[in-house]
Amino acid sequence: MASDLQNRMFAELDDKEPLEAAKQCAFDYLDKTQERRIYPSAADIEALRRLSTELPRGGVDAATIINDLHNQAARGCVNNIGGRYFGLVTGGVLPVALAARWLADAWDQNAPLFKTSPTAAIIEEICENWMRDLFGLPDGTVAGFVSGSSLAIFSGLAAARYRIFQNQGWDVNAKGLAGAPPVRIVSGRHAHATVVKAVALLGLGIDNVEWVDVDDQGRIMADRVPALDDKTILLLQAGNVNSGAFDDFASLCARADDAGAWTHVDGAFGLWAAASPRLQHLTAGMERARSWSVDAHKTLNTPYDGGIILCRDEEALNMALHAAGSYLVQSEDRDGMFYTPELSRRARAIEIWAALRYLGREGIDALVTGLHERAAQFAEELSAEGFNVLNDIVFNQILIGYGDDGDPAAFVKHIQDGGECWVGGATWEGRPVIRISVCSWATTPEDITRSVKAFVAARKAVAG
Ligand SMILES: *Cc1c(COP(=O)(O)O)cnc(C)c1O
Repeated sequence: MASDLQNRMFAELDDKEPLEAAKQCAFDYLDKTQERRIYPSAADIEALRRLSTELPRGGVDAATIINDLHNQAARGCVNNIGGRYFGLVTGGVLPVALAARWLADAWDQNAPLFKTSPTAAIIEEICENWMRDLFGLPDGTVAGFVSGSSLAIFSGLAAARYRIFQNQGWDVNAKGLAGAPPVRIVSGRHAHATVVKAVALLGLGIDNVEWVDVDDQGRIMADRVPALDDKTILLLQAGNVNSGAFDDFASLCARADDAGAWTHVDGAFGLWAAASPRLQHLTAGMERARSWSVDAHKTLNTPYDGGIILCRDEEALNMALHAAGSYLVQSEDRDGMFYTPELSRRARAIEIWAALRYLGREGIDALVTGLHERAAQFAEELSAEGFNVLNDIVFNQILIGYGDDGDPAAFVKHIQDGGECWVGGATWEGRPVIRISVCSWATTPEDITRSVKAFVAARKAVAG
């Protein structure tokens, strides 16, 4: 006989009341995204803190839970689909991808094996094929669906580490790093923090990185890259997190490949340039790398958390992520766990499939070039207002310098507190800068003009 608690939940499954309530609340939230502040006010965040109570002894009914989330928790949300959030590199969710995720969540799938979810396995395989094709990657490139680029980069470097040691007769899974033969890591000084973290997590040692100087856009200086060999991991990037710049793949990937080195391309947001006929000149030559990492939750505007590791050395990726060789039972089917560090996993490829299919090749091109065009507009309008644009707008990123007399922190705070738009600060060539990332499908040319007005108002306010 079912317990009282079970009966309560069966009743909820039956009458769908919590789900209906959540749907209504979600619709209400979405209806207000165009008028909401971009960043919550101090009062909103205060309301959020009222959620903090003792864990109840007896539990609370579902209606109260959903109601509190809507009336209190949602107040602290950052309005990513309001069109004027320009922090980090944060997309705004595509409605179809959100809908697909809702549906997939109702299916409650676990994605490690074909056996645990044929749906997840087959949809991952379709996405793998589409992405290989979209990005122009070599036949045999496989994809692992992970939480984001942090884990995708980690997975790519784990595969590189496995292969480079294996080439020297050293099984790193069995023997570890103590007494291991040498491995070299070559990287531009502007490698993303998560790349550096992966180097540390894999025991390769940040101090062992051979850092190469970068040019004024943050691109690795190809002529300063040392001689490469088959003991080397070369770290490149498609999309510098500040300037949006792309490394010179055409010369470097070929050079590394010819030398037997392993190139990993961190393309968290920028790899999508390869899927756009109008921007794919930026990634020309990157197909000769061995692994690439990319996020769907950035440029493609799918829900979090959707990162992808793409690797053309399937065996290295499998062996790196599944240390026990006997685990690798040959199967007719695609088992996603062999391409990711995790075992249990959300079937996150479902919303990626939905976004790709919804947009098609033309829609992806339109999305990606739209971000670029609005970034160019932003830079142009800011320049016209006398702001100092520091970078070439090759993709979606803009860096703004301060005059010598400006107070950068006060300026950024004024913009953030105003709620009209949100931008963050960063350091560029040793100087504080304002960093703008245009990454949401929902940003219109009017949003850009409105945001430029917020910049002008902030400058005036800070000047006194
Ligand atoms: C965002 C980003 C990362 C990290 O990606 P997550 O999905 O946040 O883990 C790595 N590299 C670059 C260039 C990024 O923009």
